[in-house]
Amino acid sequence: MRLQNKVALITGAASGIGRESALLFAREGAAVVAVDLNLDPAQAVATEITAAGGKALAVRADVSKAADCEAMVAAAEKQFGKLNILFNNAGISHADDDDAVSTSEDVWDLTFHINVKGVFLGCKYGIPALKRAGGGSIINTASFVAHLGAATPQLAYTASKGAVLAMTRELAAIHARQDIRVNALCPGPLQTELLMKYLNTPEKKQRRLVHIPMGRFGLAKEIAYSALFLASDESSFTTGAEFLADGGITSAYTTPE
Ligand code: NAD
Repeated sequence: MRLQNKVALITGAASGIGRESALLFAREGAAVVAVDLNLDPAQAVATEITAAGGKALAVRADVSKAADCEAMVAAAEKQFGKLNILFNNAGISHADDDDAVSTSEDVWDLTFHINVKGVFLGCKYGIPALKRAGGGSIINTASFVAHLGAATPQLAYTASKGAVLAMTRELAAIHARQDIRVNALCPGPLQTELLMKYLNTPEKKQRRLVHIPMGRFGLAKEIAYSALFLASDESSFTTGAEFLADGGITSAYTTPE
């Protein structure tokens, strides 16, 4: 098993990438702390893991709140004795996120509080725990949109993911000699609630699909496998990376007919 004897904390674990990663990491031997704003679905993930013979704990936390982030890390150490993997994955894409003229300050601030400050706070409280464990792996979920501009605007979201990439690089450099690796995971467009809520008509879906060489949306499960690589010791020489799993969207100038 690829995560034997590891303890992994995953934020946004109730749904999508976080949920699939929690289930996969547990199958690979990790004890999983499934963190989410919504406790009931996070608890369902934890119950599914324990029912299959794994170890899991569900914790309710709002990643934009310092006290919640401190408490989620403390809960991981209390329950499982240590923390080896911190997957800062929780994020939002607001329905009213638009261009500079139309996006409200409230939407901008909320997006940055969760997507950027949430990663910062996860690291603020998670890094001391990783140090106590003798090192570890941090994965921050960014997005392909941090690499490309789109004419269909989501300005706050795009900027927030750019900030996650910048933060990841600097954290990787700061902690490289403490055996703490920090990588950004950049998924392409996925068939999850977060994106389908936004691409809510066949026309909007098609407008995005034409840019993906593979001609389909990705699955949360496919991103969980990328996260597993970054979480495991198999990626021991990988830090500060922008790990793209995007169906080729950032490589394409034109796509096949
Ligand atoms: P999702 O909406 O299925 O899951 C996100 C989870 O985060 C939800 O369970 C939600 O309750 C939780 N969450 C939201 N705000 C929170 C908060 N303040 N504190 C704690 N938990 C909170 O979305 P997903 O597609 O699995 O997205 C996961 C990550 O991947 C996000 O950071 C997202 O930006 C990123 N991403 C998604 C796509 C995509 O196409 N779906 C593409 C690139 C990047």
